[in-house]
Amino acid sequence: MGRIDITAGGASHGTGRGVTAEEMRRHNLAVVLEQLHLEGPISRSELTVMTGLNRSTVADLIAELVTLGLVEEGPGLSTPGPGRPSPVVQPRPEGAVTLAVELAVDSIAVATVGLGGHVYSRLRVARPRGRFSPQETVYDVAKLAGPLLGSLPGYAFAGVGVGVVGITRRSDGFVHLAPNLGWHNVPLAEMLRDELNHEGLVLVANDADLGAIAELRRGVRPGVQNLIYISGEVGIGTGIIADGKPVLGSAGYAGEAGHMLINPNGRRCRCGSVGCWETEAGEAALLRHAGTPDSGAGLEGVNAIAERAAAGDSTTLQALAEIGHWLGTGIGNLVNILNPEIVVLGGMYHRLFPFLEDAIHEAVLTRALDAPAKMVTVTRSALNSDAALIGASELVFSRIVTDPARASRPILEA
Ligand SMILES: [Zn+2]
Repeated sequence: MGRIDITAGGASHGTGRGVTAEEMRRHNLAVVLEQLHLEGPISRSELTVMTGLNRSTVADLIAELVTLGLVEEGPGLSTPGPGRPSPVVQPRPEGAVTLAVELAVDSIAVATVGLGGHVYSRLRVARPRGRFSPQETVYDVAKLAGPLLGSLPGYAFAGVGVGVVGITRRSDGFVHLAPNLGWHNVPLAEMLRDELNHEGLVLVANDADLGAIAELRRGVRPGVQNLIYISGEVGIGTGIIADGKPVLGSAGYAGEAGHMLINPNGRRCRCGSVGCWETEAGEAALLRHAGTPDSGAGLEGVNAIAERAAAGDSTTLQALAEIGHWLGTGIGNLVNILNPEIVVLGGMYHRLFPFLEDAIHEAVLTRALDAPAKMVTVTRSALNSDAALIGASELVFSRIVTDPARASRPILEA
């Protein structure tokens, strides 16, 4: 389940040379920390069984993680039978706190998340239309994040993870293009580092790719090896996990399914092309079919539609059936190409899922080939609309797991 492979002792990295004792120790440290981060409290003896390491090695690794402030040990629960209960090890959320940020078109969300996935605070605010410039955005993020971080003085700050509705370069947090924000070539990580006055880790990725990571690690069916995460907003974001690994392409631009052709006779898209998936199944299409002027767009517009649908308004229900049809048609195409076990819907599709579900399923069965269509489950996220936010925190935690000493900088008092 997105885990580091646990290889037998003495295995080489395929370079022809042996693994040094230090490399093996760091690898094992990562295995143990990842286990605790994802699974929560576990007894020392269970940890020994799960990792396949011997007892004294596990004890040493735990001692090191305790010294780093990342885990703590408590008394074990008594069990029937001989011997003392095995001590229970658990992650210390305050030992590594991340600031997670999601930059959508309609909203900005921030959260403070501790090791083990403990969410301290989370805040999502509607973004006023027109307040899109990169400088205004990082200013708003800093303003929202300040009080959240300030309420955790002395906790160890591990870094910032950011999901953005755009095409990003992971190596340096550079956003090449975010058509629905009107961004071109924005050095987002650098700008956030300046605005937050933070010299450490700032990692940036596409929001849907992060949603997929969150689903892989903490989602509806954790550990599923082939999944597609689809988030609806102004655009459609798609994150793909194949054989347990994110599909990013050669530079991280893969998975832009929102811009696959779905209707050759369709409308012009913001990307410059015609008939893209998001022009038929995105927010603007929904509002258009529902007869709501585009000025009512955003979180409020979607909430209003959900309310009218719940009240049984027939125009609204028809609009949702139309969106569900196009959404399901696109999903059917992806099912044919990728043969996923599960397709998870987030964002506005999460909110509206009860009204979209039937039309989606019908379209998937019509569009996709019989065998992959029968295998796939199409459902909504268990993480509400926060999958990208949770994925942003996981991006940082994945670095902490491989380099635990990194999470040592205390948060300053507000
Ligand atoms: Zn497009």
